[in-house]
Amino acid sequence: MNKLGIFMNFWEKNWDADHAKYIKKAAKIGFDVLEFQAQPLLEMSKGHMRDLKKLADEVGIELTYSLGLDRAYDVSSPDEKIRLGGVDYLKRIVECIGYMDGTLLSGVSYAGWGTPSYVMDDKRPLWENSIKSMREIIKTAEDNGVTYCVEAVNRFEGCLINTAAEALAYADEIDSKNIGVLLDTYHMNIEETSIGDAIRLVGDRLTSFHTGENNRTAPGKGHLDWDEIFGALKDIDYKNRIVSEPFVMQGGEVGRDIKVFRDLIDNPSEARIDEEAAYLLNFEKEMLKKYGLA
Ligand code: MN
Repeated sequence: MNKLGIFMNFWEKNWDADHAKYIKKAAKIGFDVLEFQAQPLLEMSKGHMRDLKKLADEVGIELTYSLGLDRAYDVSSPDEKIRLGGVDYLKRIVECIGYMDGTLLSGVSYAGWGTPSYVMDDKRPLWENSIKSMREIIKTAEDNGVTYCVEAVNRFEGCLINTAAEALAYADEIDSKNIGVLLDTYHMNIEETSIGDAIRLVGDRLTSFHTGENNRTAPGKGHLDWDEIFGALKDIDYKNRIVSEPFVMQGGEVGRDIKVFRDLIDNPSEARIDEEAAYLLNFEKEMLKKYGLA
């Protein structure tokens, strides 16, 4: 069966939190993978990173990483100082992931998170800056055994890679075994004409997969067509990770950045979110069984 995971900020309103607590919690609920924002790694001592990795190994959790790149480190920037600073910053993050024996980074990791606020008739110059940056960063990813997944995100969170086709075109230009593609059902729901066709287009180059509903609640709670989604994963014989990335609580840094301005479940206490996590894990296991992926 595919490894099933959860993003730590399902529970936490701030990006940095008590990672050890959530490693234990994810294992207890039955997940195989815990994903969290990569940036806090830069603030951790090597000893702390080793302790987290040891704990994760003990409880059988794989740690994966995602990020929404701060625009101060925008590797698609026409400002060479910002671009080069971003290259250095992302290389340092990749080195931390390598130090943790991690193998996967995803997210808006190829440009600053967000969209330009000026009139832009052609994104090609930003794309080319990003490609130039990534050809440098990918060498560090290769040296550290990290697959650097570009995630196609919706138009409100980025302008470079909105669709599966754009993610593939980007990966083609990097041409490394360490560049990967990540699709996310929440973003695909906004940008793709057909979610099933987008999954089939990426095919065996799909390195990781994020799940979330149209409104970023837990899979199965909104109006996405999960039969279409899991049917397409079966069509491509998808064997990699499936990491759920719901955000249901207003407030904090997460509410600010993800634009969660109301609670999306009643009384989102920790116990209530634990229940929701157990529910979604079961939902995904059942869908995998239904489509013969289990
Ligand atoms: Mn995602």
